Amino acid sequence: MKFGYLIDMDGVIYRDSHLIPGAARFIAELQEASIPFMFLTNNSQRTRRDIATKLGRMGIDVEESHVFTCAMATARFLASQKPRGTAYVIGEGGLLQALHNAGYAIVDKDPDYVVIGEGRTLTYEMVETALNLVLAGAKLVVTNLDPNCPTSHGTRPGAGAIVSMIEAASGLKAFSVGKPSPIMMRMARKSLGLDAQHTIMIGDTMETDILGGVQMGYHTVLVLSGSTKTEHLASYAYGPDKIVDSLATLSHAALAAELSTKDEFASLLASPLSEDAPTQLSSLYGEGFHGNAPVVIENGNATRVLERIATH
Ligand SMILES: [Mg+2]
Repeated sequence: MKFGYLIDMDGVIYRDSHLIPGAARFIAELQEASIPFMFLTNNSQRTRRDIATKLGRMGIDVEESHVFTCAMATARFLASQKPRGTAYVIGEGGLLQALHNAGYAIVDKDPDYVVIGEGRTLTYEMVETALNLVLAGAKLVVTNLDPNCPTSHGTRPGAGAIVSMIEAASGLKAFSVGKPSPIMMRMARKSLGLDAQHTIMIGDTMETDILGGVQMGYHTVLVLSGSTKTEHLASYAYGPDKIVDSLATLSHAALAAELSTKDEFASLLASPLSEDAPTQLSSLYGEGFHGNAPVVIENGNATRVLERIATH
């Protein structure tokens, strides 16, 4: 089975309105080889068509079906929980359209849910209305918990910051659907028809992209072209499978070969070792492996295999 990709955009494909060098070439490589991929964003402001248009203007020509937003994930999740429900919304076009598409009506009285996304039109009255609706029994849902988002002139508060006002005032906790929630991560994978072990998540943020991928058992690639620097990594209990400076240094063909080898290696490790194991390892690693001779392979699994052979 072929590998496929879930790809974050901000910090991976572009920063502000500038394309990150190498991103267009990487996407073109996927398109030429008919590799399934989906752009995955925690931005709920824009619709998938808006985002496909933005990408097109930057030179990445994709269909809107290649875009999956946390607004879409939230709307589809709510529709699965309560079909044809109602919502009071703090958010913008991307979230409103996604909810309408999922069969929801937007109301300001007795909603089933109060749904919070990013919104530059936020007023104190809207927060007060949302608070009172939640206190009256509406369920509090947020598209994503990102505390802030980088902009060309600094940082703006994200949906996580907005919802925290309502959480603090009500004493209730919002339910979040966007990355790293398994709800959004799984929906995106299923829409590509992939299984977990053939899904590769590429992103620049540890708390969303990489954590989401790790929780789902996907392969993860961290790019350093966005919010994360190498020195930050030591403080996390989880890590990506691979770290690259940017998409400029990532090749699908090379990565797929590397992961296939890792898969074969894992299945070899899972079965009882036969006398053929050294030969099988030689065929996987070429000249890197010679029977019981000491070999340095920077791979935890490899070390375990060598130990098992040594005690065989
Ligand atoms: Mg990002």
